[in-house]
Amino acid sequence: MFNEEDKIKEACGVFGIFGHPEASTMTYLGLYALQHRGQESAGIVSIDENGKMHDRVDMGIVADIFDEKKLALLVGSRAIGHVRYSTTGSSNLQNAQPVRINYINGDLTVAHNGNLVNADEIKRTLEERGSIFKSTIDSEVLVHLIAMYNKMDFLDAVKESLTKLKGAFSFMIMNRDYLIAARDPNGFRPLEIGKLEGAYVFASETCAFDLINAEHVGTVEPGEMVVISRDKLTGEAKLERIQFAERARSAMCVFEFIYFARPDSYIFGRTVNEIRRGLGRQLAEESSVDADVVIPVPDSGVSAAIGYAEGAGIKYDMGLIRNHYIGRTFIEPSQSIRDFGVKIKLNPVKGIIKDKRVVVVDDSIVRGTTSRKIIKMIRNAGAKEIHYRISSPPIMNPCFYGMDFPTKTELIANSHNMEEIKKYLRVDSLAYLSMDGLIKAVGGKKEKYCMACFDGDYPVDFNEDQTKLMFETKNKC
Ligand code: SF4
Repeated sequence: MFNEEDKIKEACGVFGIFGHPEASTMTYLGLYALQHRGQESAGIVSIDENGKMHDRVDMGIVADIFDEKKLALLVGSRAIGHVRYSTTGSSNLQNAQPVRINYINGDLTVAHNGNLVNADEIKRTLEERGSIFKSTIDSEVLVHLIAMYNKMDFLDAVKESLTKLKGAFSFMIMNRDYLIAARDPNGFRPLEIGKLEGAYVFASETCAFDLINAEHVGTVEPGEMVVISRDKLTGEAKLERIQFAERARSAMCVFEFIYFARPDSYIFGRTVNEIRRGLGRQLAEESSVDADVVIPVPDSGVSAAIGYAEGAGIKYDMGLIRNHYIGRTFIEPSQSIRDFGVKIKLNPVKGIIKDKRVVVVDDSIVRGTTSRKIIKMIRNAGAKEIHYRISSPPIMNPCFYGMDFPTKTELIANSHNMEEIKKYLRVDSLAYLSMDGLIKAVGGKKEKYCMACFDGDYPVDFNEDQTKLMFETKNKC
């Protein structure tokens, strides 16, 4: 990720573990690996052998929230964790996850990645029946639904509740007996299964397994809940797979491949790095140009730029260096430095760029404001020609399934044609990957993916009035 202001934001990462003596530490490490999926808040809830829950949820990044002492308080061999970027509800502590409640059947906790498109409707019905919500996030409706079905067996209550939800969800759900990983029937967001000695682990991406030496053993399938409990005879963790709903039209988010997921992750049955290199190779096939060097916009453009260089037979080099050690705030000098915000994050390597015809590869253009600054920076470093290549098609539409997009009109490709964008960015040439090229690079089957932000073909109906702060606006009346 490069610039937080002009990039699409991911809507969270989830992690869960059952049957490990250091469950909370493993969750902490898992969240550390998933930090790119949300940096606004993070939390861990553990459960001890007496069924008592312990939690620590706070604003900020994982490394700032937890230390050894805090983790030591999160006792128990089971835990779930969450990193958040807000897509429904403000970024504040009240909305941080995992959500934890105590109801007639005991403690219950839930962590969610995705966005529910019918949360508004469900919330209204529940409130009419007397539910009182403590947050303004969509995810909380699940705990209220489960509580409403309190007379049912717990697994039946979860199953029944999940069938009421529409949209994108990868959930971790935990009570005193079970850890459940559930994925929506369209399979929008990834959710992977791992094993660590005798323990089962779940994570949004496999990079979380690599860090804790867990073995990747499978995927939570669309419409499925994978249930981990303790075997009554052996005391060991056992896994059960329950299809809570029929699979719907497959809608894996193609943007996970293009930009969101870490390149070292394996999701949707593919390695992200391989896909991104393929996007770059395809882009080179479609829009090659005579040039001296291919450089990426780091970090997310790196794999595609390598692929482009391979495909075009042009030398690859790191012409922009990213500073990875920027905190959340930095002090600007009072005398303004032009384009300070971009410069603090990226710096061009003049020796690579000066007097060269440069191909710059980036994963996407959102508003175009940051791209323009990067191009200017490369021009000032002495580039003779700049050819901007984008490893995805133009973003035309917002996402309603758990990514934070600007409004339609703010998306530069929605309101400007290619020539206008090229002029605005001040590049010598501009090319995006074609839709056909994208489909080819991700395996040739459009029907497996959601590509709505590019082609407007939304797999699940939604209410256009649903906004990020919809529950807060209502509360103010
Ligand atoms: S609209 Fe775009 S970002 Fe949203 S789920 Fe579909 S492909 Fe992903």
